[in-house]
Amino acid sequence: MNKAIILKNRPIGKPQLSDFKFSNEEIPKITENEILLKIKFVSVDPYLRGRMSDAKSYVEPFKLGEPVASGCIAEVMESKNESFKKGDFVSGLLKWKEFQVSDGKQLLKIDDSELPLSAHLGVLGMTGLTAYFGLMEIGKPKEGETIVVSGAAGAVGSVVGQIGKILGCRVVGIAGTDEKVALLKSKFGFDEAINYNTTKKMTQEIAALCPDGVDVYFDNVGGTISDSVHENINRFGRIVVCGAISTYNDTSLPIGPRVQGFLIKQSVLMQGFIVGNYAEMFPEGIEYLSTWLKEGKLTFTETVVEGFDAIPKAFIELFEGKNKGKMIVKV
Ligand code: NDP
Repeated sequence: MNKAIILKNRPIGKPQLSDFKFSNEEIPKITENEILLKIKFVSVDPYLRGRMSDAKSYVEPFKLGEPVASGCIAEVMESKNESFKKGDFVSGLLKWKEFQVSDGKQLLKIDDSELPLSAHLGVLGMTGLTAYFGLMEIGKPKEGETIVVSGAAGAVGSVVGQIGKILGCRVVGIAGTDEKVALLKSKFGFDEAINYNTTKKMTQEIAALCPDGVDVYFDNVGGTISDSVHENINRFGRIVVCGAISTYNDTSLPIGPRVQGFLIKQSVLMQGFIVGNYAEMFPEGIEYLSTWLKEGKLTFTETVVEGFDAIPKAFIELFEGKNKGKMIVKV
């Protein structure tokens, strides 16, 4: 049989397991130019929360009653398409279905000769590219500057901090547990890190760990954590608005300090972005990230959850901070 995970309800607040249901279908047959894929690794990502609601956004919402889709790695089981053969591995946007048919367009052939296949969903995939382009194209850090990263121990944040160190910056991370704080310093080379769950005076703590102020803030979380970083931004600082996970489950519009005042007074640039804005430059990003990986300047970690049935749970756990590095489901 062929299991699929269907979006049953649009989540209200934090997503629940009951928002998803499993269905069983026949394994599909392929025709000319098609390939049959079996899912191997599934990327669960915070942005999927946005697609589960029907609010207007930069991508279409998922349809109720249909399978959810995300970045996945699959194995070619059968092929009637001359570009693919049985046993090839591909990555691309695929449905949460054990088996599916594809015409191969939009899929990228990958191999595990240098890195595990799952790295193509993280450090060499969407989250690594988000870190690279957000930091380089908007943050534009200069040697000796101070970068603060929120969501620092996650897939995007851990790469941002390491690129900051490669560029010769002071890097301070913000994350949700002492274990993550230790990991940031020991594995990813951050100069300092803050546990936002146990630090009472965030603004003062950031000031203490950034004695020269904050030149670049790479924001993955938004909310009150970001309010405290904003208070420490230097003149001509850059705020890279990558994500706002702390507000994704809000049911009303979050209200906080108005930002115009400090943006004007400090001449600060604050810019949001979507990684897809840089699609034409992806080969450049992959080239830099792979070179740093080969040179041992960049490393990565994954939290791997096992089994197709665990996909919804792994997705929900992103909002509980259960992952260190990239959250991956191994089917
Ligand atoms: P992560 O691997 O960072 O996983 C999510 C992490 O967010 C959790 O581990 C948790 O860590 C933290 N978190 C969860 N809830 C809260 C909260 N209420 N307050 C503060 N932190 C919280 O995810 P990604 O690296 O994949 O994504 C990071 C951010 O970047 C997300 O906001 C995502 O939407 C965004 N993004 C944007 C892209 C773009 O194109 N603009 C592309 C990819 C991602 P902790 O224990 O530290 O709380």
